[in-house]
Amino acid sequence: MRQQLAHVLEQVLRRNPGEQEFHQAVVEVFDSLEPVLRKNPQYVDAAVLERLCEPERQLIFRVPWVDDAGTVHTNRGFRVEYNSALGPYKGGLRFHPSVYLGIVKFLGFEQVFKNALTGMPIGGGKGGSDFDPRGRSQGEVMRFCQSFMTELYRHLGEHTDVPAGDIGVGGREIGYLFGQYKRITNRYESGVLTGKGLTWGGSLVRTEATGYGTVLFAERMLQTRGTSFDGRRVVVSGSGNVAQYAIQKAQQLGGHVVACSDSTGYVLDERGIDLDLLQQTREVERLPVSIYAERRGATFVPGRRVWEVGAQVALPCATQNELDEDSAAALVRSGVIAVAEGANMPTTPSAVALLRDAGVLFGPGKAANAGGVATSALEMQQNASRDSWSFEYTEERLAGIMHSIHDRCLATADEYEAPGNYVVGANIAGFTKVADAMLALGVV
Ligand code: NDP
Repeated sequence: MRQQLAHVLEQVLRRNPGEQEFHQAVVEVFDSLEPVLRKNPQYVDAAVLERLCEPERQLIFRVPWVDDAGTVHTNRGFRVEYNSALGPYKGGLRFHPSVYLGIVKFLGFEQVFKNALTGMPIGGGKGGSDFDPRGRSQGEVMRFCQSFMTELYRHLGEHTDVPAGDIGVGGREIGYLFGQYKRITNRYESGVLTGKGLTWGGSLVRTEATGYGTVLFAERMLQTRGTSFDGRRVVVSGSGNVAQYAIQKAQQLGGHVVACSDSTGYVLDERGIDLDLLQQTREVERLPVSIYAERRGATFVPGRRVWEVGAQVALPCATQNELDEDSAAALVRSGVIAVAEGANMPTTPSAVALLRDAGVLFGPGKAANAGGVATSALEMQQNASRDSWSFEYTEERLAGIMHSIHDRCLATADEYEAPGNYVVGANIAGFTKVADAMLALGVV
């Protein structure tokens, strides 16, 4: 079986040259799969692995747009429709200058297993553009989104492919994208995008869901050691959508959140992060965290990673590979008990190994941040039935889903003789669900 995995991996590396993040995501999943393949040779016979590593469809398109000064720009748009064995392709759009095919494929690959873990009927996909919305006017962002959707719309549909937000794509961008989709198709097809505003088809709790879900997952991990967030020193990276609501839920559970960050550096606020001020600064005014620090009288440390301040619970909520081995070592020295990934693949493989060797509870993103997409699926349910649920009911559903993902990861890890290993549990539970559906659907 090891040979079989090595053979498929060699093929992935050869066929997808230079796509480091995609390679990293595949290796990370393959590391868990040997015992599953040994137990289930039918997956090998039906070439499930080979098929899982090849997206069903990869779209790359030109996105031309005109800025406020009249200059024409040409960005590149992507949508990778990765796997639809369990339902329509589902996964966010990322607008960030670092976006290229390898990032979109890594995110799509992760999304397939994450969506399977939620237990909802959704396949996996991901997309985005190398467009940078930071520093752009409302009008420029709107024109870009309209141009992006003018190509993408023909590939979407509530039963086909349902995007949502990710880095650089929040409620504002989803609004412009939905508006253009509606205009071009002449259909008010609410279920074609999630993360919508509350007055036009959105779901309560969707905005909060990824951050809340990550903390609910972490709380469940802490409970396995007979402890909780209460009174714990918490550090969060990022200060966008996921980070803000991770901070809020951690504070609600009694955690003391002392630091967060952005791409310019981090803020240390020993009195505890003031979430209203953070949201005013980052979300409303779209200013960097250094301005929050200035307004709050807190410390801003430019160009460094937030993990050096030490924490009992660490929640990486910014971007991939942002918590490396040195950062993990600093966290271990400071007595960290749990790390839960709000972002996708934020912890490097060697940092994961170091944390696990030190006995730290480690919740991988495909399990710990699945609350966002799970609540997107709840938004699709509400759209399909033209209903809208209360905040309390939707949050209860989210909590139930996060607890069941947590428990399934632990049970699967036990079954495969890796007790307490959430990485193995998440990879195997997600993989077997998709693999079984692929077997049932034949060679397609
Ligand atoms: P946002 O755009 O709202 O926020 C991203 C945050 O991360 C910002 O503070 C940003 O700082 C920082 N950041 C982005 N890129 C870098 C970088 N290269 N180096 C340092 N900091 C960086 O995005 P989200 O909060 O939505 O997403 C954050 C993470 O969570 C991503 O990994 C995403 O894939 C993942 N995720 C998001 C979900 C969602 O529902 N939104 C669902 C599941 C996972 P700056 O503004 O300075 O760039």
